[in-house]
Amino acid sequence: MNEANQQWLDVRSDTVTRPGAAMRAAMQAAPLGDDVYGDDPSVNRLQQRAAELFGFEAALFAPSGTQSNLIALLAHCGRGDEYLVGQEAHTFRYEAGGAAVLGSIQPQPILNQADGGIALADIEAQIKPDDFHFARTRLLALENTIGGRVLGADYLARATALAHARGLATHLDGARICNAAVKQNISLRAAVAGFDSVSVCLSKGLGAPVGSVLCGSKVFIEQGKRWRKMLGGGMRQAGGLAAAGLYALEHNVERLEEDHANAAWLAQALGKIAGLTVSAPQTNILYVDLPAAACASLGQALLRERIRVAMAPRLRLVTHLDAARADLQRLVDVFAAHFKT
Ligand SMILES: *Cc1c(COP(=O)(O)O)cnc(C)c1O
Repeated sequence: MNEANQQWLDVRSDTVTRPGAAMRAAMQAAPLGDDVYGDDPSVNRLQQRAAELFGFEAALFAPSGTQSNLIALLAHCGRGDEYLVGQEAHTFRYEAGGAAVLGSIQPQPILNQADGGIALADIEAQIKPDDFHFARTRLLALENTIGGRVLGADYLARATALAHARGLATHLDGARICNAAVKQNISLRAAVAGFDSVSVCLSKGLGAPVGSVLCGSKVFIEQGKRWRKMLGGGMRQAGGLAAAGLYALEHNVERLEEDHANAAWLAQALGKIAGLTVSAPQTNILYVDLPAAACASLGQALLRERIRVAMAPRLRLVTHLDAARADLQRLVDVFAAHFKT
């Protein structure tokens, strides 16, 4: 665990990790240039490596996952086009409506099934005919993992094949795609097969402080560069951040297994406490249902023990590389004391 985090356990999200000594050393050592001119060797290395790892022609470093997804939506769709997207998806719910506001792109939200996927029949039913009454359906956007759930390679192959057969492009919000790949024990390439573009967060479980990479064809990434510039995401000497991202891709993918094991352990331990209903996590995210009346006092008890959660009756807990087993045990102890009868 990193020194700076030693005092606190923060399980609100896996975005909260801070770079450890080795990652900081890589950042410190990174050669720099002006990336708007394409001159930053560290950004270029990250982009090349990401393209290689995920099996695409090219990649683009973006300051956030929200921007990376938005660049993809803007590059795939034009004004008056629509994208098919799960109702629970980040690009629909949690990105401030950017595609609609900035791109005049209409989302067509579709119900997510309990496993996180969208039923193929529902996708099919929402593809609009070529008729001027309708927005032009251009893109299917999926997310993996979604709420910690893994969409299997089989489902993704069928969904992307259906989209392509109907003339749609496909984008994957793969903020946590590395978790999905590790969980299924498949390569990163295999995990994104069938998609025309994928956005990957470096700053979630992978532990970099900032940034996402968007992967796609050369032509797509060239268009993406223009959108990134327009959105204010053209960064100059960004190599230090890119070096952190590269370090994360090279060193922090396999270890996601530990986060998954910790989430499973945590679910098991909390599940033994009367009054709690705990979901069985597939990756690093678990949900705990607790009595609404307990939220305030439990939240205070956790803070007293230097534990941060995003308190809610349906409480999401996220494990990551700065959440060690011993600290998770502290969390379990607070819950156990609180719900003791
Ligand atoms: C975190 C996340 C993003 C992007 O978030 P930023 O905070 O903008 O980097 C996108 N999609 C999903 C599924 C995410 O979890």
